[in-house]
Amino acid sequence: RLKLNLADLASLRSLPGLQARLDSLRPGEALRFTHKDGLLFGLERRLSESQTLKVSREPSGLKADVLQNPLELRSRTVRGRIEHSLFEAVAAAGANDQTAVELADIFGWDIDFVLDVRPGDAFVVTYDEIWRDGAYLKDGPVEAAAFINQGREFRAVRYTDPEGGSHYYTPDGRSLHRAFLRAPVDFTRVSSHFNSARRHPILNRIRAHQGVDYAAPMGTPVRAAGDGRIRFAGRKSGYGNLVEIEHTRSIVTVYGHLSRFAPGTRVGTHVTQGTVIAYVGMTGLATGPHLHYEYRVDGVFKNPQTVALPTAAPIDARWQADFLTRSAPLLASLNPAGTMLVSR
Ligand SMILES: [Zn+2]
Repeated sequence: RLKLNLADLASLRSLPGLQARLDSLRPGEALRFTHKDGLLFGLERRLSESQTLKVSREPSGLKADVLQNPLELRSRTVRGRIEHSLFEAVAAAGANDQTAVELADIFGWDIDFVLDVRPGDAFVVTYDEIWRDGAYLKDGPVEAAAFINQGREFRAVRYTDPEGGSHYYTPDGRSLHRAFLRAPVDFTRVSSHFNSARRHPILNRIRAHQGVDYAAPMGTPVRAAGDGRIRFAGRKSGYGNLVEIEHTRSIVTVYGHLSRFAPGTRVGTHVTQGTVIAYVGMTGLATGPHLHYEYRVDGVFKNPQTVALPTAAPIDARWQADFLTRSAPLLASLNPAGTMLVSR
């Protein structure tokens, strides 16, 4: 604990705008003081990644300044080939785990990184290293990437539109995302598949299973599979606690046996893909905690595990030209991705 002269403390707090900048201190945060016999000579605190607050003693008293520490972006392209795992290959190429996670996220809609990745698969990835005052700080997001999976090449480029939204697109501007998550919960296993006729474990008679059951621990978050509007949230017979979401293209998704609802889950609420709407439970007719999930198109039950999921919106037509201009150098940085394959 630091003993400071009371008059200094009072004058510190009276510097314009300073109090707010000091009041938001978090535990464990570092403040740098210089003092002599309790008399404050200076104080430094990092306000953000690119700003430092500096208080210094001048003949006229204490003075506060905000120093700029501009961030410098250094573009980096790394390439590698998978022998055992994506993580090992990314590390061997000299990039961080974060880059491997992002690659798996970006291409996860087209490639199953648990089941589909093979030795010999290859990747190229371009991202910015962020440096400050001549020192490496961290990696920025992946800006462009190519992944060759079993001979098929996938490419992605990140684009931030003029309204500030950032997404990954194919080189011709199609979204890499689907409008729906394949599974709206992190599940441990599929405990019951979609089936047009099966014996119900509790009712003990043949009954169609019009969804898929994802077993997961009690309380696991359940997410909205796509953007939409909640049209039902409450109890419904065998479903127990149930949420129904209405999406565009006459698609409705249904989430049953929930233990409880998330705070914002109410009829009429708009949700975006990935929003936590409720938690896994075993209300209604359920023998263990799981999510019963249905995907209906025009009122017809579809198999959520195999139904073709519509892709998310492509680049807005207004921004197509800007997208092509800005993505061209990023995509060029990936070349030649295909030759890695040829040189095998
Ligand atoms: Zn079920």
